[in-house]
Amino acid sequence: MNKKTKFILDEEDMPRYWYNIQADLPKPLPPVLHPGTGNPIGPQDLAPLFPMELIKQEVSTERYIEIPDEVRDVYRLWRPTTLFRAHRLEKALDTPAKIYYKYEGTSPPGSHKPNTAVAQAYYNKMEGIKRITTETGAGQWGSALSFAGSFFGIEIKVYMVRISYDQKPYRRVMMEAWGGKCIPSPSPETQAGRNMLAKDPDSPGSLGLAISEAVEDAVSRDDTHYSLGSVLNHVLLHQSIIGLETKALMEKIGVYPDIIVGCVGGGSNFAGMYLPFVKDKIDGTKPNLRIINVEPASCPTLTKGPYAYDFGDQAGLTPLMKMFTLGHNFMPPPIHAGGLRYHGMAPIICHLLNLGLVEARAEHQLGTFMAGITFARTEGIISAPETMHAIKVVIDEALKCKESGEAKTILLAHSGHGHVDMAAYEAYLSGKLSDYEHPTGAIKESLAQLPKVY
Ligand SMILES: *Cc1c(COP(=O)(O)O)cnc(C)c1O
Repeated sequence: MNKKTKFILDEEDMPRYWYNIQADLPKPLPPVLHPGTGNPIGPQDLAPLFPMELIKQEVSTERYIEIPDEVRDVYRLWRPTTLFRAHRLEKALDTPAKIYYKYEGTSPPGSHKPNTAVAQAYYNKMEGIKRITTETGAGQWGSALSFAGSFFGIEIKVYMVRISYDQKPYRRVMMEAWGGKCIPSPSPETQAGRNMLAKDPDSPGSLGLAISEAVEDAVSRDDTHYSLGSVLNHVLLHQSIIGLETKALMEKIGVYPDIIVGCVGGGSNFAGMYLPFVKDKIDGTKPNLRIINVEPASCPTLTKGPYAYDFGDQAGLTPLMKMFTLGHNFMPPPIHAGGLRYHGMAPIICHLLNLGLVEARAEHQLGTFMAGITFARTEGIISAPETMHAIKVVIDEALKCKESGEAKTILLAHSGHGHVDMAAYEAYLSGKLSDYEHPTGAIKESLAQLPKVY
């Protein structure tokens, strides 16, 4: 039996280009619409928020886009990342399946998020921007952007959802260690925040409100832009380095996945893994490849939402994107996988799902924790609660192989470690965790408020 466990590219073989799926889509993406006019938006509409280079990437149809040397130089701190063969998990499951996982938890902030944070900080720096605002829920994105800002001398201002700010102090301290400024949202620093505080001084905040504060702050100053850590096309582009590295490694060892599995919140880590593979499905060379997007049953965007135009934020400030959505007013229950609680989904993933090129599945919290614990006790890694959703499906698929006797190759996109999520592990291990039914009533109510687009 071949016991080789780790597969790593040489630093010099790290990809020099990101892969842009927009070059290969069988049908172009539906246009992004201006919320006021209902017409497709142009670059000028986005210019107060993003550097022009990122706006160009958002709509580019060039297949490969060069990764700037300055960005690659920062990537070298943890990239290329390792592809593992999960020998011990396979053995514990007694499955003939071959399980591989690409692990993004070795970046200093502990997830895939710096792949885009570093690129975004760089392009902002090149445009003379001194300051970037953003929002964060559980704190993973805020810490990744603070990390990236430190390399390019950019001040990072993070509006962190109040309830997380109070309950999860360690991500905030990470932001501060990297020089970021983190304040609870609602804050007295913006009109949106002041309005909410006047209504409810003890408001726990929400991601939608934090976005509104970060956007208001960014447009009020010339030296400041706004940054988003998932969903948008340019974010998925930057994350494609995960899939490009994986594909190069798998080619080297002569394997190709039958099934690729990952978790989706806004969709960036998993799309980053599979977009270079989905290309093979589009061009017909790998028609049987299966790609499974896994989401929480409590926030079932892809499995229960309609494919419709909606806002990206709760306040309705952003352009309208066509996506599977639970409605921008949808408030998912407070599960531990904070990074998966988003009402919408990356338009690229939604388009691929709509074309039948990828699949979606929803998983309940308790089952995902059980899978995460199995993974910790076989492969050793303490996974983020987000990632556990994908691990659950990998285990299910491997057990199906055991029944059928098929030796399928299963590839897991492992998005990050859970070292800052020990409170969630504690709740699970002490039996305090429960499943949330997907709130049908709340979804219906929220969907009734979808914007009208003709
Ligand atoms: C933020 C996060 C996610 C969800 O975001 P995507 O954009 O869907 O990738 C998943 N896993 C980890 C570890 C995260 O930090």
